[in-house]
Formats: sequence, structure tokens, C-alpha cells
Amino acid sequence: MKIYENVSLKNYTSYRTGGTAKFFAVPSTTDELVNYLKWAEKNSIEHFIMGGGCNLLISDQILDRLVIVLSNLNRHILKKHKKIYAGAGVLLDSMIVYTIRSYMTGAENMSGIPGTVGGALAMNAGAFGTEIGMLTEEIDLLGPDGSVFTVKGADAGFSYRRTAAVGSNIVLGGKFLLEEGNRAESEALRRDILRRRASKQPLEYPSCGSVFKRPEGHYAGELIERCGLKGKRIGGAMVSEKHANFIVNIGGATGSDIKNLIEEIKLIVLKETGVQLEEEVKYIGF
Ligand SMILES: Cc1cc2nc3c(=O)[nH]c(=O)nc-3n(C[C@H](O)[C@H](O)[C@H](O)COP(=O)(O)OP(=O)(O)OC[C@H]3O[C@@H](n4cnc5c(N)ncnc54)[C@H](O)[C@@H]3O)c2cc1C
Repeated sequence: MKIYENVSLKNYTSYRTGGTAKFFAVPSTTDELVNYLKWAEKNSIEHFIMGGGCNLLISDQILDRLVIVLSNLNRHILKKHKKIYAGAGVLLDSMIVYTIRSYMTGAENMSGIPGTVGGALAMNAGAFGTEIGMLTEEIDLLGPDGSVFTVKGADAGFSYRRTAAVGSNIVLGGKFLLEEGNRAESEALRRDILRRRASKQPLEYPSCGSVFKRPEGHYAGELIERCGLKGKRIGGAMVSEKHANFIVNIGGATGSDIKNLIEEIKLIVLKETGVQLEEEVKYIGF
């Protein structure tokens, strides 16, 4: 067991922002994870779970917590017939490449979504009409009382960017059901999806992907653009010129720069369009 102290979280988030974790751990196995959780409980320290940090905005302060990064947790993939088991720390995109190479189809539309399988299951991540919940047969979870249990995909309560069953549990891994596929066709679809993402998204800058959820009957990016906010800046944070639902770190942005820009966008969009935007990005430590 190795607990690091005073670790900058900048290198652990896709925004390249964030303060310092007072305590920090990167478990590889469920047993190690359980030991870290016990240590936090024994020392009355709150913990926070991170995957790839691709949907997080972390404050610039010292986080008086144990930050547990799960990007190494149970990092293996197993295949049995049309089913795949992937541990929480496997990169979602690596799992997709694995399915394609294993002549399986169904996950290609999620190609290029950054982050881990655990984070994708916690967020019900998705793109181009496919959400991870649609493919999920089972999720293995660790409960706050230390129990390990399995929830069927059908009972997991997947909805838009939310998975009710995860709640305060920790995802250890998931089992996914795919169809038999044609590798060449799947590779062509993946290439097309990656091309479409690169043409629409400012992937050249650090970001968290879409900042806001899709409001009923609208697109957040379109509303933000309509309010003339593309290119608006606070410090090193800027509303992307390429996609208005992305706030990019154009260099040296702080968590507060990004948070303040988000607040300002919400106010202006509400005033100009009457639509209340809601964040998809998760705040930590604000
Ligand atoms: C350029 C870019 C493009 C993106 N495009 C998309 C997209 O098309 N579709 C989409 O849905 N998202 C997209 N995102 C957002 C992000 O990639 C997803 O939300 C992703 O699933 C987050 O995974 P993560 O491992 O980074 O989770 P993190 O960001 O580390 O965590 C997200 C949440 O999940 C929780 N969590 C993480 N791991 C676990 C675990 N094992 N158990 C329990 N809780 C956990 C965290 O506590 C946090 O609340 C994009 C992000 C970027 C930077």
C-alpha cells in the first residue's frame, strides 16, 4: 500500500487543471482499493474516486481528501463468445479496439471517448446514438460497506449521463454483450467516427468534452453560439471557436477560470434564450 502526499492533480485530468491532493493512491486490484478505503475511514478522511479525469473540473485548492485514481484498477479484458469483461481501469477506447479486433460489433460509435470503462459506466457515456448502458450485461460494484456485488445492466438505472446503480458504489468492472461482426466494416465505421469527432471537436486543446448536458429540445452548443459566446475568454479558459459546448484550456487556465466562464455562460444563455443549462462536467472541491 502506497499513499502519496501533496500530489498535483493537473496530470490526472484532461483539463490539465486542478489543485493538490493531500493524499493520493493508485490501486491496481480490488483488494488494494479496499485497503485504501479502510485507511481513509480509519483516519476519518473523505475519499474521492477518479477514473481518467476526463469529465472533471477540480478546484485549484488543496483537496483535504484521499484521491483514488482507478486508471490501473483490474486492467484486463476477457472474451467469452459474444461477451467481453473489462476491468474498471481499462480505457474505454482500448476496449472498443479489442472488440473490433475480436470480430465483435456494437461499440464502434463510442470510439474516441476518452476515459476508463469505470468512468464510462458511472457516467453512462455515449456518442452517435450508442451509450455504454445499451451494451452492459452486468456491472461489478464495491459497496461502501466493502461488499462486492453484481447488478444486471437492465437493473442499473441507466439514463442520460447517469447510472443510478453506481451512486456511492465503486465500479470494479463490467460485462458487455456484443454481436458477431465484420472486422473491416467495424474498422471503417471507427475511422469515420474518429474523423467526425476530430472535425467537430477542438481536440488540440485540453478540455472535458461537452461542458453542458443536452437541454430538452435544444443543443447546448447551438444556444451558446447563438448568444455570441464563441471565443469568450476568462484567463486561460475559452469557449471553443470550433464547438461552443467545449470550454478549452488555451494555456494556463485555472479551475476557477473555467468555473467562472461556465457560470457566465449559464447566466447569459438563461437571459437570452430562457434555457437553463446544466453541467455534464463534475465539480470537485469547489
Ligand atoms: C475530448 C473529450 C471528448 C469527450 N466526448 C465524450 C462523448 O462523446 N460522450 C461522453 O459521454 N463523454 C465524453 N467525454 C467525457 C468523458 O470522456 C466521459 O464522461 C468519460 O466516461 C469519463 O471517464 P473517466 O474515466 O475519465 O471518468 P472521470 O472523469 O475520472 O470521472 C467521472 C465521474 O465518474 C466517477 N467514476 C470514475 N470512475 C469510477 C469508478 N470506477 N467507479 C465509480 N465512479 C467512478 C467519478 O467519481 C466522477 O463522478 C469527453 C471528454 C473529452 C475530454
